[in-house]
Amino acid sequence: MSRNRTFPALLLVLATLQCPLPANAQDLTPFAGVLDTTGLTLVPKRLASGVYALLSPNPFGDNSGFIVGDRGVLVVDSLVNAEGAHAVQKAVRTVTDKPILYLVNTNAVADHWFGNYAFPPTTTVIAHRNAATKMAKFDQLRGEIAFFAGGEAKVADVQPRPADLYLDGQLTIDLGGLEVEIHHFGVGNTREDLVVYVPAARVVWTGNFMLGNHLIPLLSGAARAPLYLDAVTQFARRLEIDTIVPGHGSLTDAATAVPLYLAYLSDLTESVRSAARDGADPTTIVDRLPLRTEFAPEAGRELYARIFQTINTLNTLQNLGTVLPAAERPEGDSN
Ligand SMILES: [Zn+2]
Repeated sequence: MSRNRTFPALLLVLATLQCPLPANAQDLTPFAGVLDTTGLTLVPKRLASGVYALLSPNPFGDNSGFIVGDRGVLVVDSLVNAEGAHAVQKAVRTVTDKPILYLVNTNAVADHWFGNYAFPPTTTVIAHRNAATKMAKFDQLRGEIAFFAGGEAKVADVQPRPADLYLDGQLTIDLGGLEVEIHHFGVGNTREDLVVYVPAARVVWTGNFMLGNHLIPLLSGAARAPLYLDAVTQFARRLEIDTIVPGHGSLTDAATAVPLYLAYLSDLTESVRSAARDGADPTTIVDRLPLRTEFAPEAGRELYARIFQTINTLNTLQNLGTVLPAAERPEGDSN
């Protein structure tokens, strides 16, 4: 299959935005293979009794983790293929022999659920209701993720295993001596973002909803800045959080990440609105918006930040005044 047919997801996002793009916005070379699981070893990082983060050794790689109760284990996210899923399970087995009862997919982007099929058939897979339509588009997702996963061979053997249980609202699971809550706060990075929260430890897994320190939020296809802002506001209001295990990027905490996300999303909305009111053209708007310095502290990450900023700006510009509640979103808008 040619490179053109393995259209990377972000490029697809850019292409569907019918705006002229600033120079280098389409150069996704820095993202090639960022989710590659070759040789992956994950070492459990104990955050509290029974609560472990699995942090990718690669800068943008997928983080995950697990929670151990008396009854068994709940795992957060299964990575992009069997190799990733096996690395997660191997890490679990260094801590406990208890069965993996639950696996939560924090969203339906391939790198958060393609490894599902390599978990035991007895594991109950949980995702948000809005994940179902997207998970059904397995071949499309596989084509989109290959570029990021290190090539088509890395996802060639993946078998689709969508969720067993689709959540609408909140779910509390008692693992035996330790409770885990699963929440959805509305449209964030995707329409189906779930967060996994352990109240006793004040730890939360956020998937793509909140990335690690110094990774800029990304407004993918269905994301809308004002809705994302609402969702982060609810997240911060309803959960008492110390530690955040993000889907990508380093471990962070609510005191750092939440104010940064709130400020970024409201700045973005206001700046794009006011630039559009002044009649600026899209390229000028993208060039004019300052990138908050917190998001580009290191040379290697600056490029990610600029690409994300471009996508976010064009997404916000295109959707000014057209934000619909999730339930009214057109079916095609499934990202
Ligand atoms: Zn992700």
